Amino acid sequence: MAIAVPESVGGQATIEQQVDGFMMRVAAQSPGETEFHQAVHEVVESVMPLVQSKKAYRDAKVLDRMVVPENVILFRVVWTDDAGQVQVNRGYRIRMSTVIGPNKGGLRFHPSVTLGLLKFLAFEQVFKNSLTTLPLGGGKGGSDFDPKGRSDSEVMRFCQSFMTELYRYIGPEIDVPAGDIGVGGREIGFLFGQYRRLTHRFNGALTGKNAIWGGSNLRPEATGYGSVYFASDMLSTRGESPKGKIAIVSGSGNVAQYTVEKLTTLGAKVVTMSDSDGTIMDSEGITAEKLAWVMELKNVRRGRIREYADHFKGAKYLAGKRPWGVPCDLAFPSATQNEIDEDSARLLVKNGCFCVSEGANMPSRPEAVDVFLNAKILYGPGKAANAGGVAVSGLEMNQNAGCMRRSRQDVDQQLCTIMHSIHENCVKYGQENGFVNYVRGANCAGFVKVADAMVHQGYM
Ligand code: NDP
Repeated sequence: MAIAVPESVGGQATIEQQVDGFMMRVAAQSPGETEFHQAVHEVVESVMPLVQSKKAYRDAKVLDRMVVPENVILFRVVWTDDAGQVQVNRGYRIRMSTVIGPNKGGLRFHPSVTLGLLKFLAFEQVFKNSLTTLPLGGGKGGSDFDPKGRSDSEVMRFCQSFMTELYRYIGPEIDVPAGDIGVGGREIGFLFGQYRRLTHRFNGALTGKNAIWGGSNLRPEATGYGSVYFASDMLSTRGESPKGKIAIVSGSGNVAQYTVEKLTTLGAKVVTMSDSDGTIMDSEGITAEKLAWVMELKNVRRGRIREYADHFKGAKYLAGKRPWGVPCDLAFPSATQNEIDEDSARLLVKNGCFCVSEGANMPSRPEAVDVFLNAKILYGPGKAANAGGVAVSGLEMNQNAGCMRRSRQDVDQQLCTIMHSIHENCVKYGQENGFVNYVRGANCAGFVKVADAMVHQGYM
């Protein structure tokens, strides 16, 4: 039976009814894309009052336009494995919005990648990039290719085949991909090599490049460091800091590693890291030396986090578990989407956690977000807290365009300044009777700039 979908809900409809009507249309237009619906719902719930209060936004149908990508590229990626077998994967690039700058956003290589998953990430990226204050549009891409367990040669052949299609659609003024889950320095190297070979150009078409051939200082560190800077800013609103706090971190990839590094430097004790198989808990804390061992394990040997507990006596391995049951003051979800459900959120709050800063994109389910907001803890959503990565990517684009290079200190200072300004903007838009709702703050602050630019530039 066909679902009756209201074309628009106007007149006397409440904000809630308007949100519901809008979401019915989105669901009907993009069936089965559950993460995309989740991400859109969160933004629409925050910004609907703004849209309803401004005729120019309603006339220009800014929300209806924002949920449809400007275009989507879907392509076949064929490569051969080490046994000589032909392998076939799907490649994607979602170009969500170029209204405030070229498309910008990472590439994810993971077996769970689908069009809907990438649409959620691209949609989030539009608001995140707007928050950075830099001229960056939003996009995302990737493949259902799984680099785990593949040799370097297999990853190289896959990346070369992927770029052989993608290179036509990217460039410094068009669309600038970077890394994400499964795409780190090794993959960006292979992708950039093939881009250069096909185009005969050395430019800033990708970010996250190695610092010796065009990358920015501090890009690998930026997302994790930025998430800790954002947490520090949230904590300072309550006269607190990371010093002396117990922190838990999920994941053990790029974002998690540099989150642990910065927290440790600032005097917090980090007691967990994880991967998709389980969590390690080290009540003595993951020190700089132990973190260096983890980095070698994950980035060079490409091993599993359970090996930590074999190597460091006293640490425990919690097979199949996430870190959320471990008592802490601060939590840094830095692995993947929807990794915190309602029960985990309740457990975190019950055990005394009073600050959550999301290094990952949308790691908390909507019910978990409600738990954090109702408990009035400091909760920094990913699109604000993890914007440091794309911010330094923006600085990398800027350095490549100007054939120049910034020092580590300079980039770190700029990263700090950008994270402060994101925090200030969230506070400006998220005040609710003395409490800062960072979800509403981030959504509204990110939305206004994009919506105004859409109005200024006409209907398209
Ligand atoms: P990495 O691939 O470097 O690391 C991902 C980590 O998360 C690994 O430890 C991985 O474990 C774990 N993980 C992945 N999928 C799952 C899952 N389904 N369940 C449990 N654990 C899982 O990725 P990044 O560190 O770059 O990205 C982590 C998060 O941060 C993502 O949400 C990403 O979108 C977000 N992000 C990243 C940015 C960046 O600059 N890299 C910028 C902004 C956001 P395993 O090895 O077992 O797969």
